[in-house]
Amino acid sequence: MPRQTPSEAKLREIASVIPTPFHLYDAAGIRANARRLREAFAWNSGFREYFAVKATPTPAIINLLKREGCGADCASFAELKLAEACGLTGEFIMFSSNMTPASEYKLARELGAIINLDDVTHVEFLRDCAGVPEDVCLRYNPGGNFTLGNAVMGTPGEAKFGMTRTQLDEAVEALKVCGVKRFALHAFLASNTTEDTYYPTTARTLFKTARELSDDHGVEFFMVNLSGGIGIPYRPGVREADIRWIGEAVHNVYNEIIAPTGMQVRIATELGRFMTGPYGWLVTTAIHKKEIHKNYIGLDACAVDLMRPAIYGAYHHITIPSKDDLPLDHMYDVVGSLCENNDKFAIDRMLPRVDVGDIVVLHDTGAHGRSMGYNYNGKLRSAEVLLEEDGSFRMIRRAETLEDYFATTAGFE
Ligand SMILES: *Cc1c(COP(=O)(O)O)cnc(C)c1O
Repeated sequence: MPRQTPSEAKLREIASVIPTPFHLYDAAGIRANARRLREAFAWNSGFREYFAVKATPTPAIINLLKREGCGADCASFAELKLAEACGLTGEFIMFSSNMTPASEYKLARELGAIINLDDVTHVEFLRDCAGVPEDVCLRYNPGGNFTLGNAVMGTPGEAKFGMTRTQLDEAVEALKVCGVKRFALHAFLASNTTEDTYYPTTARTLFKTARELSDDHGVEFFMVNLSGGIGIPYRPGVREADIRWIGEAVHNVYNEIIAPTGMQVRIATELGRFMTGPYGWLVTTAIHKKEIHKNYIGLDACAVDLMRPAIYGAYHHITIPSKDDLPLDHMYDVVGSLCENNDKFAIDRMLPRVDVGDIVVLHDTGAHGRSMGYNYNGKLRSAEVLLEEDGSFRMIRRAETLEDYFATTAGFE
């Protein structure tokens, strides 16, 4: 859905209370999108989205999604604790971790989370450190390349996650011995994919494999987890995923492969980017203009607030709300203040003329934005603000302070 960027006046109003830079989230946009997802899979009784907490580990966002029926997908001790603090337990938590410490399996078991085993060796590991629950999910890595048509969308063969097809057989047998009653299957084969055939193709692989495992080992499957990976259009002009079509296409594959078995298999998703990505903005102020061999705009934000451009060369759209009507006739590198030359939000970007003091908005920062941040150069991460449909707003995480920065240190004597 097209996202309306908040007006210059609204951004100035927020900035007068909560200084830039800050992450701003659109509550109504997140809610409406969560409802579209739920409707797209309404044909499947028991469907649940487990929001990938790592995308935006902010209680107010997790709670907002919880009120829309979502659970949480966690991969660490702190993420499990965060889910618990938001009132999520039991089958509302997916624990899709890898190289998992024993302490994390213990906590996942205490919370009654659905455990997604990343490797065949984890059967014994889990048994010995926390005990094996009656329901267990297995993470599948089919290897090779993942293609849609002629396009290579992902390279599972290069990925550290999941287990091979033969290891799935071994894991099922070993887990049966441990008393497991019901199984689930999971795979994450491509990231940030706006191809509508991604989920239906992944579903076909998982449904087929679940059916084979069920036939070969005489076990029941209660869930197939399509994981995350549905992308968002970071660049203008890229079409967005048609979630309604995707839900219906998965339904057709379900009717073809699962329905004839008589198994009641619920569909789970672990979307992160798709749930919140488009509904967040990093709101910044231009504080410097520098003209040397190239022309630079220096923002009050830097890569600690949004790392994706620095680490992946990712595109984030940039607008100057006060200059929406002006032509894009100036070329800039839009940069932060880190002593690192990759601290660039955009390179050779065409924008209207930018002046010091302008509010500069980075788009689609609602997922894998603040959460990836760090404290390099002693830079402190920015606040998070939730904007409601009626224009009211509230801070849902304050900016880091110097006290936070010093809190872990010792040795001043
Ligand atoms: C990162 C991750 C997700 C979410 O991925 P998105 O691309 O944000 O949808 C879901 N499941 C697992 C196991 C992940 O590691």
